[in-house]
Amino acid sequence: MDEEERFDAVVVGAGFAGIYMLHRLREMGLSVRLIEAGDGVGGTWHWNRYPGARVDIESLSYSYSFSSELQQEWSWKENFASRDELKSYAEHVVERFDLARDIRLGLRVVSAVRDDDDSDWVIGTDDGAQVRTTYLVCATGSLSTSNLPDIPGIDEFRGVVHHTARWPDEPVELSGKRVGVIGTGSTGIQVVPVVARQAGHLTVFQRTANFSLPIRNSPMDPEHERSWKERYDEHRAAARQSSGGSSSGILHDFSALSVSAEERERIYEEAWELGGSSVIRAFNDLMTNQAANDTAADFVRRKIHSIVRDPETAEALCPRDHPIGTKRICMDSGYYETFNRDNVTLVDLKRDPIAGAEPDGLRLASGAPHELDVLILATGFDAVTGPLFAMGVVGTDGRELREAWAEGPRAYLGLATSGFPNMFVLTGPGSPSVLANGFTSIEQHVDFVAALVEHARAHGAQRIEATAEAEDEWVRHVDEVASRTLYKSANSWYLGSNIPGRPRVFMLYAGGAGAFRRRCDEVAANGYAGFVVA
Ligand code: NAP
Repeated sequence: MDEEERFDAVVVGAGFAGIYMLHRLREMGLSVRLIEAGDGVGGTWHWNRYPGARVDIESLSYSYSFSSELQQEWSWKENFASRDELKSYAEHVVERFDLARDIRLGLRVVSAVRDDDDSDWVIGTDDGAQVRTTYLVCATGSLSTSNLPDIPGIDEFRGVVHHTARWPDEPVELSGKRVGVIGTGSTGIQVVPVVARQAGHLTVFQRTANFSLPIRNSPMDPEHERSWKERYDEHRAAARQSSGGSSSGILHDFSALSVSAEERERIYEEAWELGGSSVIRAFNDLMTNQAANDTAADFVRRKIHSIVRDPETAEALCPRDHPIGTKRICMDSGYYETFNRDNVTLVDLKRDPIAGAEPDGLRLASGAPHELDVLILATGFDAVTGPLFAMGVVGTDGRELREAWAEGPRAYLGLATSGFPNMFVLTGPGSPSVLANGFTSIEQHVDFVAALVEHARAHGAQRIEATAEAEDEWVRHVDEVASRTLYKSANSWYLGSNIPGRPRVFMLYAGGAGAFRRRCDEVAANGYAGFVVA
């Protein structure tokens, strides 16, 4: 990279947020450079190539809406696209909108620093080069820095170890092997059924049981696709105003407690059969009323017991420590059924934790050995702030982002932080982010940033900065909204609880994608209140 290069905007990350941001800014006439650490585009769908990786939102919804031609032309093979199909979609979009010429792959941002007169960002990459830019847009994703568990002696293990988000491109030999999976979040629950079909023996190391619902994926029905495409605009409009960012909202707009036990059971059964997230969308108060939530949690626990034949294993798989949906709900294709296989064992780490690794596998605290050839770490991410801190962001007066956010992330509308002018984080902390359909969140945030930059340009302004007051108020509001829900009662990555030492702060806006959009629209209509555009 040429040392002298200067851009109007640098976008970091070629996931779906970064790709669309590049397109929007370029359409506005800005010079843009997109820098991506991976050797391909697609962000989370580039990196997460583990067996079974698939989206759990319907693809007709989990896709861009910004181009009517694109959404009409593209055909999804399955209702819930596989990782490979999503990766192809990202590549198609890059090609279709001729974006590759402004994307640099295989380059990692290692520093992003305000220059001496506080007018530009200077972006350093791991090849030793620097570029300058007016605007810095971090499209680094909420879930991109892997969480690697600290297992004593792991270097001694003679087998193969892979984190799911760093899965190699070349096939990993699993046939007939003794495989261990640590982690039973959304990723582990997708990996387990697929690996069980290949492995000689699979041991699932579970620390905390999670709720999972059957996704019921199937090939795309051409008639369904045709009728959806006919009414695409209506679907998108409904998604934008909805809480979850897709047109499939709450199934019954009344309380789970307002109907008889028999009627409730009938509704849950119907939702279970419908698949996807239907069970937690069955009534309108499952995320706000503990007693209502208990009815859904109890329904799913009974389902687990009815599927898993060994009662002890079934009970170990039943979550008892958090309301259903307060950790990201998992969606599976035969997860619970997998524990009926002869070649699958569940190890409950709450009873017998991992003591360490040795050359032949893992040993538990009780002394029990588990011999393994392959160890799969489905142990999640240092979410939201991890990738931003890793970029070495230093704002005005030499203040590091890591220091500014030491007590927890603070971003006005989830995208801008005082002391870090002209830096925007897409779907960052304090935005709905993954609590809603990622594409709906991404497009809303990108459009907001693009309009804000346009507003600054129209006023001849070069500097956009969130005020400390607006930021404080937003952080308070995000916390207050989360406190009206049951979310804070679970130890989830939403609160940073999965990473030792991280402050416990609810990082996402739980008021819904529609409410968030309306709030952002109000801010824009009020001349971008809360921002100083100078
Ligand atoms: P996760 O939800 O954070 O789950 C990580 C799992 O690893 C948990 O079971 C955790 O146990 C366990 N774990 C972590 N450190 C451990 C240790 N030292 N020892 C033993 N167990 C350990 O991560 P994820 O499953 O990768 O999912 C993260 C997010 O990615 C999801 O919430 C979702 O937003 C997204 N995702 C989406 C899809 C999809 O759309 N289909 C698929 C995959 C992921 P504890 O619970 O006890 O901490």
